[in-house]
Amino acid sequence: MAKSFDVAVIGAGPGGYTAAIRAAQLGLSTVCIDEWKNARGKPSLGGTCLNVGCIPSKALLESSENYERALHKFAEHGITVKEVSMDIATMLARKDKIVETFTGGIGLLFRKNKVTSMHGRGRFIGGGIPYQIEVRNAEAAEVIEAKHVIIATGSVPRQLPFAPVDNDRIVDNIGALALAQVPRRLGVIGAGVIGLEMGSVWKRLGSQVTVLEALPGFLQAADEQVAKEALRVFTKVVGLDIRLGVKVGDVKPSKTGVTVEYSVPSGEQKAEFDVLVVAVGRAPQSASLGADTVGLQLDGRGFIKVDGHCRTNLANVYAIGDVVRGPMLAHKSSEEGVAVAETIAGQAGHVNLDTVPWVIYTAPEIAWVGKTEQELKAEGADYRTGQFPFIANGRARAIGETAGFVKMLADAKTDRVLGVHMIGPYASELIAEAVVAMEFGAAAEDIARIVHAHPTLTEALHEAALGVDKRTINL
Ligand code: FAD
Ligand code: NAD
Repeated sequence: MAKSFDVAVIGAGPGGYTAAIRAAQLGLSTVCIDEWKNARGKPSLGGTCLNVGCIPSKALLESSENYERALHKFAEHGITVKEVSMDIATMLARKDKIVETFTGGIGLLFRKNKVTSMHGRGRFIGGGIPYQIEVRNAEAAEVIEAKHVIIATGSVPRQLPFAPVDNDRIVDNIGALALAQVPRRLGVIGAGVIGLEMGSVWKRLGSQVTVLEALPGFLQAADEQVAKEALRVFTKVVGLDIRLGVKVGDVKPSKTGVTVEYSVPSGEQKAEFDVLVVAVGRAPQSASLGADTVGLQLDGRGFIKVDGHCRTNLANVYAIGDVVRGPMLAHKSSEEGVAVAETIAGQAGHVNLDTVPWVIYTAPEIAWVGKTEQELKAEGADYRTGQFPFIANGRARAIGETAGFVKMLADAKTDRVLGVHMIGPYASELIAEAVVAMEFGAAAEDIARIVHAHPTLTEALHEAALGVDKRTINL
């Protein structure tokens, strides 16, 4: 007889593993099915985020920043470091160790919470309640039954047909996180989040980095003022060569590199790279699920159609994370996982997509939550703005990271915070205060009246809040 569960979760990325743990905590018998294998061919839980996304990229960003500090920033503190060198193999081994610790940790969390873990591809083979799901791996196939199903199958890199990824010369995020040596010339197609984070890593380690972006504008999802400052810093200070409005033509790999022909508004160009990163967005991973067998509805781009509570068109079947609408972010996936598990258990799970924070872990970091100024303008909203530069913040001066600013947008009548945008040191951490404030429906005045420790970077947010009412103190 088929094993039977209250909940089957397909996918053990941040969405799926979190959903499985929460469901089990709520007393539901839960199985989590995942097919990921690491570079050594071993099952590895954690999905894109832990294996080849958030965690390894942040590990490399930190290593490369430390190298950059030792090379260029220690001297002003009076620290002399002789013969600074970078051992790429050690850096990659450190990253791999961090990944292994976390992916292995999920197995422990599953055992602690009594989640059954199955390795293999999960596919619907029979509909109705319970649903029949086949779990197939290289050794065997088994059918299980579940009253509820949570699909958390995530996403895969979008491919460009004219630049097929071989993870040797032409790489996606997997290859870009594992280059065995620093390429002298690194090309990147796509000035999005991955392009900028990976471009920064290899630039700091010594590559000449050229980023080719199709759109005429830079970082269009960000607030325009933040995007403008980011473009200035990334090109003038960091040294990325960012080309906008590019149409990539022929891409030809050779034994020694990759030739890329492209056009920019001023004419045709040709470039030689040692390695080319393709980072042009991600596509939902829904093809392997057997959606047709049970009549699961997808949209034209392969995203599973869901309502505001992650319910699909099928009774008791939910979908979360990268495989559904909304930002492709790990924290959005995991919070949807919690909300769905709680809904299944009869509670009122909900995720507010309007207050999901965005972070880009470049140096300086970029972070935001809520509406951008251009969105408010397009809506014809009546708003006020407060802004404070890090150069006037004592802590930013002390740590020597003074580029950037915090900007707050608030409703002109109610003073309710509508958006907070920042570029600067530790923006990834600072944004949390803005998220909390917005979740609690705070006014700019509320933040302005909260005591912020001195000297901290959070004072920049405090001053931006004061600035909404034109009463910054330290500017
Ligand atoms: P995934 O993490 O993609 O997990 C899906 C899992 O399902 C995978 O293990 C997959 O193998 C498995 N699967 C798929 N189909 C099946 C099937 N039929 N049967 C069994 N298993 C299946 N986000 C952030 O918030 N912060 C960051 O700093 C960040 N950095 C990133 C850096 C990079 C380089 C990349 C590529 C992404 C980054 N992201 C980041 C995005 C983040 O990784 C994703 O938003 C997140 O992983 C999505 O989680 P998920 O659970 O929806 O899907
Ligand atoms: P992205 O959507 O951030 O950026 C892709 C960029 O490629 C866009 O600017 C797009 O205009 C450009 N592009 C598309 N086709 C092109 C072409 N033919 N030629 C040149 N440029 C082209 O996608 P990404 O950088 O691949 O990252 C995927 C997703 O992963 C992100 O959207 C994000 O959700 C997630 N992610 C998040 C983080 C983070 O939270 N810090 C980090 C990495 C990835």
